[in-house]
Amino acid sequence: MPESFDLVVIGGGSGGVRAARIAAGHGAKVALAEEDRYGGTCVIRGCVPKKLLVLASRFADEFERAPGFGWRVGEASFEWPALRAAKDRELGRLEAVYRDGLLRAGVRAIDSRAVLEAPGVVRLLATGESLRAAHVLVATGGRPVLPDIPGVELAITSNEVFDLPALPARMVIEGGGFIAVEFACLLQRLGVQVTLVYRGDLVLRRFDDDLRRHLDAAMREAGIAIRTGETIDAIERYGGALRVSTGGGSPIDTDQVMLAVGRVPNSRGVGLEAVGVELDERGAVRVTADSRTTAADIWAVGDVTDRLALTPVAIREGHAFADTVFGGTPWVCDHENVPMAVFSTPEIGTVGLTEAQARERFTNVDVYRSRFRPMSNALSARVERMLVKLVVDRDSDRVLGAHLCGPDAAEMIQLAGIALKMGATKRQFDHTVAVHPTAAEELVTMREPVAAVGRGLGA
Ligand SMILES: Cc1cc2nc3c(=O)[nH]c(=O)nc-3n(C[C@H](O)[C@H](O)[C@H](O)COP(=O)(O)OP(=O)(O)OC[C@H]3O[C@@H](n4cnc5c(N)ncnc54)[C@H](O)[C@@H]3O)c2cc1C
Repeated sequence: MPESFDLVVIGGGSGGVRAARIAAGHGAKVALAEEDRYGGTCVIRGCVPKKLLVLASRFADEFERAPGFGWRVGEASFEWPALRAAKDRELGRLEAVYRDGLLRAGVRAIDSRAVLEAPGVVRLLATGESLRAAHVLVATGGRPVLPDIPGVELAITSNEVFDLPALPARMVIEGGGFIAVEFACLLQRLGVQVTLVYRGDLVLRRFDDDLRRHLDAAMREAGIAIRTGETIDAIERYGGALRVSTGGGSPIDTDQVMLAVGRVPNSRGVGLEAVGVELDERGAVRVTADSRTTAADIWAVGDVTDRLALTPVAIREGHAFADTVFGGTPWVCDHENVPMAVFSTPEIGTVGLTEAQARERFTNVDVYRSRFRPMSNALSARVERMLVKLVVDRDSDRVLGAHLCGPDAAEMIQLAGIALKMGATKRQFDHTVAVHPTAAEELVTMREPVAAVGRGLGA
């Protein structure tokens, strides 16, 4: 006789773990099945290890800046195996925290791939056991897309990059999204000669154009070769290395290729269609605002729904689901004005509408923009500048978007995000006393709009 649960969660990543813990806290009997490691993409092969590598890479800038501030630094050297081992210890610790959190909440945590066998029945492939579920939550995340090109098996993705036995001397990264630019910046600083190949004309499509231009210039300044308007057509072994052919450009000889051309929802092979869960053309589970699928009592949160693929969003969607179904307090995750960061160097913090989006939706848009040399560079030879930009609806005076690129932009945007969420006006920004001397003070000291259509920084 299959054991019965109020909730069976498939996937122990950001969204699934939060939903399971909260539902159990509301008194539900919960099981969660994870086929790999607890914590999912974010903890094991995403945000966390990536940020550790970013932090490691930025010591390169600190060593370069240090002499300007009076420090004499001996010759610095970097050991990838030491960083990889330290990173693995931290991931092991975090994975245990996730698993223990589930157990402490009374969730049955199961190490197995799980699939839907029939409505309300989940099968565990590791043991063949079936579980009865009053509700099923699909939180299976996403995975990297692999293009159909000759030699694709010679390339790696972000899944493998964290565990390379050694860093290559040269790497070609294909992609223009946040994962591609983050790895380009961090690997270049760790001593890899990076070439970024991107089919578009400027990285980070959908971000504010000034941010994109600012980052593009900073990446080139840091020595990253950027080849736009090209895609990788084939990869082949060439001597002891690899040769990459691109549509439109000369071949590139390299030691490693990383493909970061996008991610797709992990929805295949879970038995979803058979029980009436509709998927869209990208394979994303179709859901309502409160995460209901098209099948009764089956819900889905996080990257598998392809709404906004960020950890805090998956967590909120999972939390909202659990409160709604088991806590008697229905709410939905709001996907508007979500602050987000790109951990490139310099890093990006952004929230709200881009200038282009604002001009589509509002008649009178003012733009406030400042570009300056942050104090951290003042006594060094570094020329890198910081960009701070606000997009404002002149009629209501509401700040529609805030876009930052430079040191600590990610930390700053969290707080600017609160202001935007509260509907803050430009006047309220202006009435806020500056914190001096900081880069963030620029957010409240920009007085004159610069805007007129077409007068972007790069124009
Ligand atoms: C390189 C990289 C960097 C990132 N950086 C950031 C960042 O800085 N900030 C940010 O907010 N977001 C970042 N993200 C995105 C973030 O990691 C995801 O949005 C988030 O992890 C989504 O959570 P989830 O619960 O939907 O899925 P996941 O965390 O992917 O969890 C899904 C889990 O389900 C398991 N699973 C799948 N199928 C089954 C099955 N049939 N049975 C059992 N288990 C199954 C998987 O093994 C996985 O553990 C990054 C992603 C990547 C790849």
